[in-house]
Amino acid sequence: MSVLGVDVGGTFLRMGLYGGDAVERPVKRLSAEVFGGEEGAAEGLARALRDYLAGERVEAVGVGVPGTLSRDGATVLNVPNIPALNGLPLRAALEAALGVPVFVENDITMLLTGDALRLGLTEGVVYGFYLGTGLGGAVLVDGELLRGRSGLCEPGHMPVYGLDRPCGCGKRGCAQAYVAGKALQELRDARWPELPIEKVFTAMSEGELADYVEILANVLVSAVQILDPEAVVMGGGVCAMEGFPREALLRRARELCMAPVPAGTLRLLYPPQDPFSGVYGAAVFAGRALKR
Ligand SMILES: [Zn+2]
Repeated sequence: MSVLGVDVGGTFLRMGLYGGDAVERPVKRLSAEVFGGEEGAAEGLARALRDYLAGERVEAVGVGVPGTLSRDGATVLNVPNIPALNGLPLRAALEAALGVPVFVENDITMLLTGDALRLGLTEGVVYGFYLGTGLGGAVLVDGELLRGRSGLCEPGHMPVYGLDRPCGCGKRGCAQAYVAGKALQELRDARWPELPIEKVFTAMSEGELADYVEILANVLVSAVQILDPEAVVMGGGVCAMEGFPREALLRRARELCMAPVPAGTLRLLYPPQDPFSGVYGAAVFAGRALKR
């Protein structure tokens, strides 16, 4: 029997079945359609999953959501893009509706679970560094999620010394206000409004790129020095954009690391870009959680 993987995004909800190989029957729906109905967000999601399964039985369901959950994964605390989910006991609601075990986690955790497996990183410490609209993270230890007191891993809100640009979280000088997609979009809008966002790195001057690399490398190395990871998984749409300074970032990060290790052992790995990575990861996560 297979596991149903679900990736809840601000714009799209993606689903698929996973039986130990690739994602089968991938489907994409508009999130607004699923969560915006009068029945409520949890029942809307339950209905979408029931419709998708159409009576087919699965062992478990894994759901990645773009926000924070209670440490036990039972309650959704804050999903900025889909506030209708906030405060809901989503896991219990879905288990009651579907009659199988459901595992809900942050979407970056799900992505890293899948990406690490695809990259062959099944042991040791793996640090996920995901540069999308914001900068998210997660840490796996021998394939298991490292859970802090509040279940948080938010490298995007690491303060960067000497900088004070406002961040969406209400603080100033957070890393993601400089290095993530939203900041790049603002730069593009101000300087090259006609340029497709995917090309913003190709338009930046050498000095601008060097500043970008400097902030990114500092944030990255702050965690590398603590975690000493087997590898850093560099995910998210920004890392896949044309001209993303991969070599310069690795070079600068190695310079900032202590030598001979972790400078000499630092690996930055870029997983293949696949819109159903989150579905795959959610299914792998749920399959593992079921075995425990
Ligand atoms: Zn912040």
